[in-house]
Amino acid sequence: LEQIEGNVDEMLRDCLELTCVGRRNIELDMQLGIGRPLLVGMEALRQVVINLAGNAVQAMGETGGKLQVISNIIDQQLVISISDNGPGIAEGHLDKIFEPFFTTKEVGEGTGLGLSVSYSLIEQMDGELTAGNNSDGGAVFTISVPLQNKLE
Ligand code: ADP
Ligand code: MG
Repeated sequence: LEQIEGNVDEMLRDCLELTCVGRRNIELDMQLGIGRPLLVGMEALRQVVINLAGNAVQAMGETGGKLQVISNIIDQQLVISISDNGPGIAEGHLDKIFEPFFTTKEVGEGTGLGLSVSYSLIEQMDGELTAGNNSDGGAVFTISVPLQNKLE
């Protein structure tokens, strides 16, 4: 992993705003509370956020909805959750979505690689990436990465 110091909340704001460009029916709700830089893995984390936000926007489709991003430091971990109010993830798919090439999208719309690549990147940072559905039925992905992630 590269070592380029960067501000996590600024990176989140950039990625999320970029993902929502031209999508007027998406309400972006950012509650960013990390407020400190990360030294190792910033670019990896950016790639993961781009993948998760892209999936969320795709899931909400034409109708749009709310894309909510919350970042905090909890127990010496950076915790970032990205949730949408699209259709959510089918119960039977929750254990498959991180497998390479698993996709429910039409040919040409998805390769099924985004989440498996994201999972490996977070693993390299000694962190965790989990998926679930929130109470309004949309999907929620949570990234947690130790603040003192090891240098590789
Ligand atoms: P792709 O986007 O190319 O399909 P991903 O690895 O990014 O591949 O995602 C795999 C699958 O996980 C998607 O095809 C979809 O079924 C499911 N998924 C991912 N994110 C969401 C989301 N925000 N809402 C609903 N389903 C999702
Ligand atoms: Mg994807």
